[in-house]
Amino acid sequence: TKYILVSGGVISGIGKGVIASSTGLLLKMTGLKVTAIKIDPYMNIDAGTMKPTEHGEVYVLNDGGEVDLDLGNYERYLDVTLSRENNITTGKIYSEVIQRERRGDYLGKTVQIIPHVTNAIQDWIERVSHVPVDDTDETPDVCIVELGGTVGDIESAPFIEAMRQFQFRVGHENFALIHVSLVPDMHGEQKTKPTQATVRDVRGLGLMPDLVACRLMSSRPLEDATKAKISMFCHVGKDQVLGVHDVSSVYHVPMLLAEQGLVPYLQKRLDLGSINIPKAMV
Ligand code: ADP
Repeated sequence: TKYILVSGGVISGIGKGVIASSTGLLLKMTGLKVTAIKIDPYMNIDAGTMKPTEHGEVYVLNDGGEVDLDLGNYERYLDVTLSRENNITTGKIYSEVIQRERRGDYLGKTVQIIPHVTNAIQDWIERVSHVPVDDTDETPDVCIVELGGTVGDIESAPFIEAMRQFQFRVGHENFALIHVSLVPDMHGEQKTKPTQATVRDVRGLGLMPDLVACRLMSSRPLEDATKAKISMFCHVGKDQVLGVHDVSSVYHVPMLLAEQGLVPYLQKRLDLGSINIPKAMV
């Protein structure tokens, strides 16, 4: 299985979910089977006990799991049926680790965030990524993992560390990172500093962004000069910088990413072999 982690920096609500779903959709269009996992680094077991003003709309899965709306995006974009296991929260991970501790599974060891919590996260992702999500009952080829919140939060730290270890567990050719950042548009000037800062943060935590998705909260596309600047200051190639401006419908985001060569890039980076790439995506 190939894993694509989608993380975010600078602010929340930046469009990670839409970018993650769109990436999954594009890969699905090449004939790959795609599944998705959403990580919500809060202590609640799930969104079921949170009031709507706190969490926004709660999405209910077929198995009754009450989860983040991003899972709804995945089901709609990817035409799959997910389970409550596809939503990982700090609450679920801690609950599992504490139950194991009470059973004596840790054989008298001191139970710690590293390695016990981080191992529980990695085991969970690996297990769920292999579960078939459509009626063919085949194991998915690709698993999109979206990490909620922003990199640098205390809440998401154990998950970032787990993913840092995970890239070695599964191997470089099986793990890619898309980091979503904000590019503020100040009266027509596209600012790159927040992106430079967040990419530096991610690197400092041991994860290397393969793609930097730059979210512009305006309808003006990412300028070529801004792209070049981000490429230079963030130590990535220009083909690794993607612009995602405001579009009239979130269902246009897959096209936006396709036009910028996302699929051929991932094909090469993740060694996807001879997938069938539609002409418009090359
Ligand atoms: P996150 O996962 O980072 O919290 P979401 O993907 O849920 O963010 O997006 C937050 C909001 O922004 C959603 O209402 C979504 O529809 C909207 N949105 C995301 N990307 C775009 C875009 N490119 N153009 C317009 N609206 C967008």
